[in-house]
Amino acid sequence: MKAVKILRVLLSLAILIVVALLIVCDRTEWLHRSLLTINLAWFSLGALVVWLVITLLLGRVYCSTACPLGTLQDVAAWIAKRVKSGGNGKYRFEWGNWRLRVIVVLLIGVSLTARDPFIGLLSDPLTVTERVLQWLVQPAVMTLLGMLASAVVVLAVMGLAWSKGRTFCNTVCPVGTALGAVSQISLLQMEIDPDLCMNCGRCEMECKALCIDAKAHTVDSSRCVLCFNCGAVCPAGAIKYHADRKRLSTPLLQRTPSLGVQAHAES
Ligand code: SF4
Ligand code: SF4
Ligand code: SF4
Repeated sequence: MKAVKILRVLLSLAILIVVALLIVCDRTEWLHRSLLTINLAWFSLGALVVWLVITLLLGRVYCSTACPLGTLQDVAAWIAKRVKSGGNGKYRFEWGNWRLRVIVVLLIGVSLTARDPFIGLLSDPLTVTERVLQWLVQPAVMTLLGMLASAVVVLAVMGLAWSKGRTFCNTVCPVGTALGAVSQISLLQMEIDPDLCMNCGRCEMECKALCIDAKAHTVDSSRCVLCFNCGAVCPAGAIKYHADRKRLSTPLLQRTPSLGVQAHAES
């Protein structure tokens, strides 16, 4: 799975670099207009349906590779990991909070309905990306108010990534909430094979989505952003990305992060 992870990282960096270059080279309003157009296209019904179908089949590929804001957060988390613990992940599993995610989406909906796009713009991944990159590479072209607003966004999103990986993606981002709802039932998912697992806990410590409960051998696929970190560090090859769900050999009670306690029986 290391090769898949490397490919994913290279692809996501390439997309981020293209977006950053566009911003550096842009001396006019062209970029702003283009991003607005891309935004509209990205969130148009057709694009949404395409991404939902991809997510239904493969999981959150958009969040792992295509979204530049996801990559920016990964860069912040990568630096934090090296500064804080010499390159070893120190993440710990946390329960997902669907209630909070739905409340944020409702707030955005109310804000947009009231024709006040403020909250919507602060949580829209492409707009936030534009703000972060412009603040980082071209602060001179920004107004003072724009710089201050962007500084707040940069500190909030990157600070969260620095301390808790992809928490923004799994709490605030409305796109992440929509894709997360679909990825719960996606065809391909990350899964731990309890028969192979040596209970070392390394996958949980490397999971920046905080969605692996290594003790319970569960992965919350609604929050998994398909970074493949877990599979790359697993010494037993116990984590697989596949459609062929492993069935436990005896009926038992097993916790699943998104559903609480659920009975699993031999199918
Ligand atoms: S959850 Fe949102 S910000 Fe995070 S990678 Fe997905 S689309 Fe981008
Ligand atoms: S890294 Fe592999 S062996 Fe270790 S706890 Fe995770 S699944 Fe089990
Ligand atoms: S479960 Fe694995 S692939 Fe998914 S976010 Fe966590 S580390 Fe990445």
